[in-house]
Amino acid sequence: MKYSQVQNYVNGKFVNSSSSSERKLEIISPLDGTLLSTVPLSCSKDLDEAVQSAKAAFPAWSKTPIKERVQVFFRYKYLLEKHLDELAALCSEENGKTLGESVAEIEKCIELTEFATSLPQLVTGEVLEVSKGVECRTEHVPLGVVASIVPFNFPSMVPNWTIPNAIALGNCMIIKPSEKVPLSVGKLALLLKEAGLPDGVFNVVHGDVEIVNAICDHPGIEAVSFVGSTKVAKIVYQRATHNYKRCLALGGAKNHLMVLPDAKPDMTAQNVAASMSGCAGQRCMAASAMVAVGQVDHIIDKICEEAKKIVAGKNLGAVINKDSKDRIERYITEAEQQGAKILVDGRRTVVNGKEKGTYVGPTVIDYVTPDMAIAKEEVFGPVISIMRTNTVDEALAIENANPYGNAASVFTQNGGMARYIIDRASAGMIGVNVGVPVPREPFSFGGWNESKFGVGDITGKSSIEFWTKLKKSTTKWNPEAGVNWMS
Ligand code: NAD
Repeated sequence: MKYSQVQNYVNGKFVNSSSSSERKLEIISPLDGTLLSTVPLSCSKDLDEAVQSAKAAFPAWSKTPIKERVQVFFRYKYLLEKHLDELAALCSEENGKTLGESVAEIEKCIELTEFATSLPQLVTGEVLEVSKGVECRTEHVPLGVVASIVPFNFPSMVPNWTIPNAIALGNCMIIKPSEKVPLSVGKLALLLKEAGLPDGVFNVVHGDVEIVNAICDHPGIEAVSFVGSTKVAKIVYQRATHNYKRCLALGGAKNHLMVLPDAKPDMTAQNVAASMSGCAGQRCMAASAMVAVGQVDHIIDKICEEAKKIVAGKNLGAVINKDSKDRIERYITEAEQQGAKILVDGRRTVVNGKEKGTYVGPTVIDYVTPDMAIAKEEVFGPVISIMRTNTVDEALAIENANPYGNAASVFTQNGGMARYIIDRASAGMIGVNVGVPVPREPFSFGGWNESKFGVGDITGKSSIEFWTKLKKSTTKWNPEAGVNWMS
């Protein structure tokens, strides 16, 4: 085993889970099958200890002025920069993405932290003299102990969607990393401590469904942020809100790219190929369905050329595990059996010297129809399914019929047509000539429909509303009293 057993992090110390001897999982690198570590599947007692530690830290942390709190994140940002290579290597090892993609992930963590350091400028309240001597004032107040439950596909970035903002805003946090990629968050805990975060403000409890349920049920937790599949987002949203907690649950996606005949062929092909294959297609913003409007065969040919330049083990990483590889390949085979045409086939991909790695090559499938499973469901692999239509309205109808609503993109040189699609596509994040339309800070990230349950977005300015509650105070003083007192 390359690393020692993963431990929980409670009150500033790494500790064993009380169930670590009974329930644990092996962490296998998707890159080459190396046994990296084991992760404990903690129990509700472990969670309770973390909640008590966070509760104890809350009074002092929440009363620390925000200008002092963000100093921790200035230092944390510097430490992320200093440890970028190490964090990126760990991310690549446990998740399977390429080193370049992992570096980009840590750079995004730095950008997220940079945003948190600007929060003092953004959380100012309001004050108004509403009648003579009477003032109304608002201020954003932290919630207390909050929880963040995260998925496997971004071991550092998704945790950093919540850690800097929630904590800089005065909350104390319990995070439950994905049991598939538990290593990166342990490193983040060490950096937060080195940055000067007081013990108990940030805690890590590893585990699976048992800990997620315990988080939703724990009376000491005020708010739950969740990122993962739609199936689990629904469960978490229902359970947390049933227990009267604030909840924002981001789910899965099926993002459509609409390619119009006037699209620039080279640029479009490069963007489509990069969007479907980046992070081996394991991104909630990946394009997995392309709607070809009219005659775009020349662009599809170029997409195939671009896809063939993407080589597993070089500029394409592995998918998370064997189950995932098998599932993705099943979708491709089923589509083929139903009449779709495989233009580039990534099944049965093996990387020399890394035979135990779990790779799927880039796959381009044409003549997919909207009723096929591969067109409707989230495949989460480096696969693009092309559907053919004659009009933009037909393309929009396909996009809008899918239950998700994370992202949609259009490739065209016609500004009026782009606006027409922006206005009609039912998705929270739209791209025009952009394959992965992730809004950058300070803009917020969040989809619509079955890609998100709850109000507001998870990052950017919108997150302030989620991580704080508004206190409204009305004060009345006799404006003359001070003068009288002075005299
Ligand atoms: P997942 O839903 O399987 O797991 C997410 C978290 O939920 C993990 O921490 C896991 O331990 C926990 N979990 C799993 N099953 C559970 C259950 N039955 N009850 C309670 N908790 C459970 O997701 P994943 O496979 O880790 O991640 C991939 C998914 O996340 C994809 O669907 C992807 O689109 C989505 N995702 C969405 C966004 C977004 O912004 N919308 C971002 C990243 C990933």
